[in-house]
Amino acid sequence: MSQTKTELLQGNLYIKGEWVSEEEQTYFESINPATQELVGTCAAATASQVDDAVRAASTAYSHWKNTSIPERAAFLTKVALLFEDRKEELAQVMTKEMGKPLTESIGEVGVVIATAQYMAGEGRRLFGEIVPAGFPDRDIKMVREPLGVVACITPWNFPVSLASYKVFAALIAGNTVVWKPASEVALSAKIFMEVLHAAGLPKGTINLLTGSGRIVGQKLATHSEVKIISFTGSTEVGQQLAEMSSKTLKRISLELGGKNAVIVLKDADLDKAAEGIVKSAFTTTGQRCTAASRVIVDRSVKEELLKKVIALTEEMKIGNGLDKGVVIGPLVNEQQCRLVEDYVQKALEEGGNIALGGRALSELGACYYMPTIIDNVHSNHTIAQEEVFGPVLAFIEVNGYEEAMSVNNGTMYGLSTSIYTRSLHYASRAAKDAVSGLVYINNGTSNAEMGVAFGGMKMSGNGHREVSHHAFDVMTEWKSVYTNY
Ligand code: NAP
Repeated sequence: MSQTKTELLQGNLYIKGEWVSEEEQTYFESINPATQELVGTCAAATASQVDDAVRAASTAYSHWKNTSIPERAAFLTKVALLFEDRKEELAQVMTKEMGKPLTESIGEVGVVIATAQYMAGEGRRLFGEIVPAGFPDRDIKMVREPLGVVACITPWNFPVSLASYKVFAALIAGNTVVWKPASEVALSAKIFMEVLHAAGLPKGTINLLTGSGRIVGQKLATHSEVKIISFTGSTEVGQQLAEMSSKTLKRISLELGGKNAVIVLKDADLDKAAEGIVKSAFTTTGQRCTAASRVIVDRSVKEELLKKVIALTEEMKIGNGLDKGVVIGPLVNEQQCRLVEDYVQKALEEGGNIALGGRALSELGACYYMPTIIDNVHSNHTIAQEEVFGPVLAFIEVNGYEEAMSVNNGTMYGLSTSIYTRSLHYASRAAKDAVSGLVYINNGTSNAEMGVAFGGMKMSGNGHREVSHHAFDVMTEWKSVYTNY
């Protein structure tokens, strides 16, 4: 279907409370992976525009840090209400830009609303500490203070909720923000920013820079006025940012990749396990940091579990995320689709067998890949070690709990582990033994609730946590005040 020009969206930069562009501004395209149609174009920020945005945030900080927390919370409460009004519209654009089913996109806007409400309330609990003094006539208190300009850099798989975790925690704590979203979802970011603009936040408190990660992201990571980098994305880029930002001693919070596993012991409820596996592996077309990409199953129940997982996967409708009933959309772009193909090919070369799928669905479009299950995988195979970020699930057979946990912990990642068992003993041990930031017992790998610390261990992060009040460990620093009287 051809699009008229007026249907196309255009995103500019949002700096100091205004939508800006230069005469010579270059624009990049946002392409719908389901149809290959143009969704719209977005401004690619230049290095000098990055300077402008950081300066605007830095100037706004001197006022914003001195506003009261209830005043900041009032903005977030308003933001939550305004997102309700634009939920459907924003969800549509998200689905068009990155392909996930509309129901998932609507759910994601719901998370943004919940995060705004949660952080508005949590601001009231930015408590300090009173410490008993070692000398008479002295009081000692410790207070949390904001740091200044926070650069938030986010990926495309959750275009707005991951931003809301960072942006709302930064704002309620009294920091100001420059946000660089992933290029694939720059138009979703534009709508997010329109909502914040409508809430009437003071000019410069939040700024949006779209454009290449290499130019905008790197400039932010090395900018002397940026005090915090809050990054969610690949481990590789996270490592680069950590290195670059170390020169100016920035605080950096990293939420990175995963190679998450579902362990299934022989006493597990296999129907429940199959349900959890399929949902964790294939929703968002496997493009979740917490997606299950390994099933580590006791040899005695492998065949039965595999059959159930295949049967449930075959029921999943694949197609354009805007179409009713679709639960698996396309991958985000053709490049990601080719990457998945390469991983599957390599898995076969290393000895795996295709139990389901194993091919691109070019009859649907350039970015579709069949949900794929690879059997006979060994823990040292590439497919069992590297993050694919696509609808590919590896089955690894083991003998009992000890081997299962050793395989689970045998990757460089440590984001999410799930175990299905009826044994209190093994469930409790797994909670302790799994080297991952998230552990789920009799639940899939992918489930985050508001107020619960979210983040990974090992190469899945650098120890910081989001979603909960622990986000303030990133967004504030402690000041100790001694008073002699
Ligand atoms: P990515 O390639 O690392 O990109 C993430 C963000 O960094 C984008 O905004 C990107 O901008 C920017 N960027 C890219 N190269 C950069 C550079 N050299 N310097 C500074 N910034 C740069 O990740 P992605 O492909 O968008 O997302 C997938 C990854 O995110 C997966 O590894 C997934 O596991 C991880 N993830 C982790 C979590 C978590 O909470 N742990 C959640 C979701 C996703 P451009 O788009 O312009 O390149």
